Amino acid sequence: MRDEEKWKCPWCEGVATTVRKSICDSRQCDCGAIAIGAGEDDWDEVTDEAIGVFKVKTRPESAGWDAMLREDIQRAGIEIRKGVTASDLGRPVYQYMWFRRAPIGPRT
Ligand SMILES: [Zn+2]
Repeated sequence: MRDEEKWKCPWCEGVATTVRKSICDSRQCDCGAIAIGAGEDDWDEVTDEAIGVFKVKTRPESAGWDAMLREDIQRAGIEIRKGVTASDLGRPVYQYMWFRRAPIGPRT
């Protein structure tokens, strides 16, 4: 998969070029959005990383529950969009997710 396709930002349509220090496959876009990709078995790593990056306060009861943690992320004003699924030969299927702090202002 080409970079232009894999790292295309869902918000600004730019291509994220800044490689982030991450245990996942991650890059940051110039608009502030962050893409994090991991193998299907490592989903929780993506969620954990997003919580860390955006300093999301999670509910105690969410611990260990990916779906609830993602709710916490969205409640903290972080938008989540699904990115591409990459299945290059010889690697597990990677799913990419995008996170961005929603612009401050009334919700539309
Ligand atoms: Zn962007």
